[in-house]
Amino acid sequence: MPTVTQEQVLNALKTVVDPAKNRDIVSLGMISGMVIKDGNVGFSVEIDPKRAEQFEPVRQAAEEAVDAIPGVLSVTAVLTAHSAAQQAAPKQAPRRQAAAPAREMVPGVKHIVAVASGKGGVGKSTVAANLTLALAAAGHKVGILDADIYGPSQPRMMGLSGRPQSPDGKRLDPMENYGIKVMSMGFLVPEDTAMIWRGPMVMSALQQLLRDVNWGELDVLIVDMPPGTGDAQLTMAQEVPLAGAVIVSTPQDIALLDARKGINMFEKVEVPVLGIIENMSYFSCPHCGERSDIFSHGGARAEAEKFKVDFLGEVPLDILIRQTSDEGRPIVVSNPDSAHSKVFREIADRVWNRIEGAGALRKMPNIVMQ
Ligand code: ADP
Repeated sequence: MPTVTQEQVLNALKTVVDPAKNRDIVSLGMISGMVIKDGNVGFSVEIDPKRAEQFEPVRQAAEEAVDAIPGVLSVTAVLTAHSAAQQAAPKQAPRRQAAAPAREMVPGVKHIVAVASGKGGVGKSTVAANLTLALAAAGHKVGILDADIYGPSQPRMMGLSGRPQSPDGKRLDPMENYGIKVMSMGFLVPEDTAMIWRGPMVMSALQQLLRDVNWGELDVLIVDMPPGTGDAQLTMAQEVPLAGAVIVSTPQDIALLDARKGINMFEKVEVPVLGIIENMSYFSCPHCGERSDIFSHGGARAEAEKFKVDFLGEVPLDILIRQTSDEGRPIVVSNPDSAHSKVFREIADRVWNRIEGAGALRKMPNIVMQ
């Protein structure tokens, strides 16, 4: 099968014209966040939000133009809103500039941190739940948004069921347990419902969970991302005003290759990677407490060094971690004095220091050398 290149996609998109400006969408600098993976192509078309409706046919034309390239298996084009000021900016407008106004989107929430993984089953949701609880144990006001709409597991992990209430019929109150505000698609859709989501639907569902929820004042909102690095994940990484991302990985090499994709994805959209957590790092025997490195332990640390991102810590493979999170009493709340809870608290401290540090850096005045 022919390999699809970015150049081919851009050439195809040059045939698509913004009718109001009579110029093609590439030379207008409207294309961003392109990902090409095994013939699957995703990108955003940045538009003025006031023109969203007019642009739907343009979006479709863009998808069709790319779809016609030999070797393309699927195309997802997403319309993203940009303010007028940013429209005037050059094509590669850095995301940091976009992040500032976007951050206003969730009033009261200081930092939003994504917990992501290159593939499913590495314990991302388990780590996200325990990290959230460990941040709360350190005295921060915390919430968790379960954006893993394909397999929401935070209701179960945080020991919650039922439906969120909407006092004014417009906005939802998050559910709450262990002092944590929790919102998940799992509260709104029955667990056994198969959900098929297309890119734009994913974003609008997520935007609602983010914006139409009374989060109140939060120091940190943890976002449990859907696993993988597909179009939906890329769009989320780009659209959610993230202070940073944490990548969860298991030690196996294969998972690490996926973790690398996760790092690349966030770097591409200029979201700082706060670090990597190695989950199921080593086996801790529930009987004798002995530690065995059943997978090639330490791979994530080496990988972090190679990619110059922080290594945030290693979480062992332990039946207690599985049992407690599957029972809705994650280890950080059910066994706060255990060694594993200490690991999560240390990870939480590192994450907090990184996000506060990043905030401090952003607030620093420009230094002008004379
Ligand atoms: P993901 O979100 O990456 O798909 P989950 O967090 O749902 O993964 O974890 C998958 C399964 O592995 C769950 O049953 C969970 O309890 C278990 N698990 C996760 N981390 C650990 C760990 N460190 N030790 C033991 N079991 C774990």
